[in-house]
Amino acid sequence: MHAKFFRVIHNFNAGPSILPKQVFEEASQAVLNYNDTGLSILEIGHRTPIFQAVMDEARALVKELMLLDDDHEVLFLHGGATTQFMQVPMNLLNEKETAAYSDTDIWGAKAIKEAKLFGNVDVVCSSKEGGYTFIPKDFAVPNDAKYFHITTNNTIYGTQWQKIPSVSIPIVADMSSDILSRQINFNSFDLIYAGAQKNLGAAGVNLVVVNKNILGKVKRAIPSIMDYRNHIKEGSMLNTPPVFAVFVCMLTLRWLKKMGGGAVMENLNNEKASLLYSEIDNNPLFTGTAAKEDRSKMNVCFVMKDKNLEEQFLTFTKQHNIVGIKGHRTTGGFRASLYNALPLTSVQVLVDAMRDFGK
Ligand SMILES: *Cc1c(COP(=O)(O)O)cnc(C)c1O
Repeated sequence: MHAKFFRVIHNFNAGPSILPKQVFEEASQAVLNYNDTGLSILEIGHRTPIFQAVMDEARALVKELMLLDDDHEVLFLHGGATTQFMQVPMNLLNEKETAAYSDTDIWGAKAIKEAKLFGNVDVVCSSKEGGYTFIPKDFAVPNDAKYFHITTNNTIYGTQWQKIPSVSIPIVADMSSDILSRQINFNSFDLIYAGAQKNLGAAGVNLVVVNKNILGKVKRAIPSIMDYRNHIKEGSMLNTPPVFAVFVCMLTLRWLKKMGGGAVMENLNNEKASLLYSEIDNNPLFTGTAAKEDRSKMNVCFVMKDKNLEEQFLTFTKQHNIVGIKGHRTTGGFRASLYNALPLTSVQVLVDAMRDFGK
């Protein structure tokens, strides 16, 4: 391979984001010649045994790594997490019924907006007034709401539900930016969705895990492609799936399994996050922006005490091959995303740069 491919970049992008090197190598090989078939993974029918095996393995790996029971079905669907903002209420909420939503970031707010097209929304908690910098603590979820929707990790402002609230109604979660980054009882959710491009694979596919028992209870007519039951019946192949994106997910899931799964990832992610947060807390030039107890292990947001130095710091980090730490366009400052594939050494390079910058 050409030498330029080996230049080490420390990639803190929020999404699309870093994936294991091995996944990139295997994926590029498969584009040229998949498993010695003489064919590219991009030029074979999705209903051939070759691709069927990819889809089957991807779904099986999700079941295995998330320790899912038989009620939970695994789907790979088009449209990214944003499509789920509408698909969830379309499948679960009747017109006169109410769903409970948490408003803890821009993504949650978008989910609320879409749900209102299908039924009533009760926003049971919000951190909007506080600039989305914390996770709400004291709130009640009505027992007669159809479901409670949360965004487990707030990608933009860097907060995360450290403890999933226990409620007596089904929980629906947008896990786009922390899926499989920690050990969690996935069976306690009735529906989980995640855009793949943050922690799971290539953009263009969405992982959906749904408890089949909650489906089939709405009165409205659901367009075929939007009805989860059709996707389940067809084994996640109702129409042509985004084959390459599913393939990249499968490779990443294989890597995750080889690494030891969620438990090992959780330890590694904790280590990365505490290394960076402790530098932020101890370095007089920087401040963290999220409430300490709610800090995300995936997206670390911080600013400089002297705003005028931010441009200079960004240039300095670029010289150290650090990319992707500029904050979201709505927040400014910095955001370092520490997804599963990001090695601890990259965090060390960033921490060293933060220290050296002061000198
Ligand atoms: C990125 C993100 C989304 C949007 O995902 P798309 O795949 O672009 O639709 C939704 N929710 C969360 C939590 C995200 O981080």
